[in-house]
Amino acid sequence: MTDFSSRKASQQGTNPVQTGFNHSQLFELLIDISSEWKEEFRLDVKLLQAICHLSLANPERAETGFTSIDIVEKVGELRSSPWSTPNDGSQMATDVRKQWKNLLKTWESKKEGIEQELADEDISLFPDLDRVQGGGAGNASRYRILWRQLDDQDKEALKARARPDHPVAPDSVVYICEDIENPNALVRLFAKGYGLYGWRKYLYVTAIGVPLLFGYLVFVIILINLTYLGNFEAKLLFNSFASLAIYSFLIWKFIGPLIRLPDDQIVLAPWGLQSSDKDRLLERRSPPQYSDKSIKAVRYTAKCPVCGGKVHAKSGGLEFWGRIVGMCAHSPKEHLFSFDHVTRRGKNLR
Ligand SMILES: [Zn+2]
Repeated sequence: MTDFSSRKASQQGTNPVQTGFNHSQLFELLIDISSEWKEEFRLDVKLLQAICHLSLANPERAETGFTSIDIVEKVGELRSSPWSTPNDGSQMATDVRKQWKNLLKTWESKKEGIEQELADEDISLFPDLDRVQGGGAGNASRYRILWRQLDDQDKEALKARARPDHPVAPDSVVYICEDIENPNALVRLFAKGYGLYGWRKYLYVTAIGVPLLFGYLVFVIILINLTYLGNFEAKLLFNSFASLAIYSFLIWKFIGPLIRLPDDQIVLAPWGLQSSDKDRLLERRSPPQYSDKSIKAVRYTAKCPVCGGKVHAKSGGLEFWGRIVGMCAHSPKEHLFSFDHVTRRGKNLR
């Protein structure tokens, strides 16, 4: 997929702002976006918010960046309890550097959601996290957020993925693609997008084909047993069909979603890939919206317009059979919304 933030800020020059949004609004927006994350209370996210707040309060220093002393003080203010050891410069530098590393990891998994939220505001800039290494005494490292103008290729991809330009009805939701929580090894394969090309494609087809072929063979063996060998013993018959039924059920749960994926484009993740919250989805992605054909494990969430709770895209159950719908965590049976992964919009279903 096109990754807007893969190029380093330094390769792109500094903060070119050619948008209806001014700098303050961009930083405010980033604070809003990050305050919706489940990790909002973690120190690395507080560090991000601290840099935003510092940039808002001191716009003239936003480009040169802020030192660990500035950041430690601001983080303490934001979480209303002091952080690190305010009298010990080297300890503060170490603490900030450690959280900065954590932030870079968190950032990686949040990029797509940030891209979508900025695209929804028609902003063709992307924030890059940047650290300017200090050298020698009195020249401390500085941390900053640089807003990079997207290049034409990025803008094309953004345009192809952008939502249709209709206003959102008051009782509708806007979904944002979120990162996968606690992925196991198998899920990690899909979390960054499983490319459907070369040997990867064959491996994928084999993973679906072999269990299906095996099931088919078992069925044929049972049929041969019945028709040619005339083996009608009741116990054997029962065992054969019971085994076949159980096997079919398991196939359906483990690879059924993968079989439906080409038709449905987005499905609930199968057993083995699913989380305990049952909100993992597999999405088929292809050009022109994305640079390659791939299958990506995703979650979609939105803010409930009724109660402000978190809406998760999940199975529609018996009532909305075969559909994925948005359910509010506070009132899953009543605050229900449709789910469209292309427009990332949902209408109230009640
Ligand atoms: Zn709700």
